Amino acid sequence: MTSHRSISLFGIIPFLLIHGLLLGQPTVQAEQTAEPQPKRNPLSRIFSKKARPSPTPTPTSPAAPIELEQASKPQSRTSPPQSLYNLGRSGSSTVSAGENAAPTAHRRTQQQRTRATKSIADVSDRVKSAGKSESTTAPQTISSWLTGRKLVALTYDDGPHPTITPKLIELLKSKNTPATFFLLGQSVKAYPAIAHQLAENGFEVGNHSFSHPQLTKLSDEAIRRELAQCAELITSATGGAPIRVMRPTYGAHNERVRRIANEMGYKIILWDVDTNDWRKRTTDQMVATILSSATDGSIILMHDRYATTLETTAAVIDELRARGFTFVTVSEMLEQPRVAPNRK
Ligand SMILES: [Zn+2]
Repeated sequence: MTSHRSISLFGIIPFLLIHGLLLGQPTVQAEQTAEPQPKRNPLSRIFSKKARPSPTPTPTSPAAPIELEQASKPQSRTSPPQSLYNLGRSGSSTVSAGENAAPTAHRRTQQQRTRATKSIADVSDRVKSAGKSESTTAPQTISSWLTGRKLVALTYDDGPHPTITPKLIELLKSKNTPATFFLLGQSVKAYPAIAHQLAENGFEVGNHSFSHPQLTKLSDEAIRRELAQCAELITSATGGAPIRVMRPTYGAHNERVRRIANEMGYKIILWDVDTNDWRKRTTDQMVATILSSATDGSIILMHDRYATTLETTAAVIDELRARGFTFVTVSEMLEQPRVAPNRK
């Protein structure tokens, strides 16, 4: 499924017209809506308890070309397409807002969602076929890893968070559940003790850049700098925890990002199950998403920034285990022989 490619066709254009004109800024790109959008100084926003309007972030180029560039972007079997579709249709000005977004997706009936998803998917397939093909020589991304052993990986981006992450650590420890945290350098800088606590408790730490830019828009040097700064902070905070994986911000990547990340020793990790936790989805919705979507080799995307993410995590662990799944870190999953390529 590649249905969020169509966002530019159905959602972004009206949104661009309204939002871009009103605010005098370019609009968001599709892949950027795949996760929260910390601002240049993310700490003031990520950790602010005060809800406030969140201006559109910094993208500057049209959505479609960037989307076509994403030949191996995450293939969520969950709901980002209709959510994005809704946001575009509704003219919401909070597409970028992790904590402040007010998605309307949950107001739709399941039937509506299914219809919308299907039509978007149809169009996206046509868009995809018109796009350029992915280089076969560049390192590829990993969005799932089928081993035949029903392994599943919980992943959390953008932390550490001063209150949510410690609670999540306690929860995961109490359930003896491994997980992978893609840390943001600026957050590690602000909360090094929590980063240390993650590593000390055996959780995998990954690289999610220093300041959460869209890496595809940076020079090679700037990409390296973002990843290196994050890595240095993680290494310093954790006392040298290995960093084997990186997750590109917004899921946005191209040949340059993949090549540089690979040169720096990282495997590039996306996801195949997206909880959309940053869209203020309810715990019940996110639990349903995970339980209906997780399959052998799934990599589940969440953000350790929300109480609902904590609740969702608490709710799915036992149930997934009851269904025969084993939790592993991403790197543990990748150590297993893969029996099939990434689901596309
Ligand atoms: Zn992120």
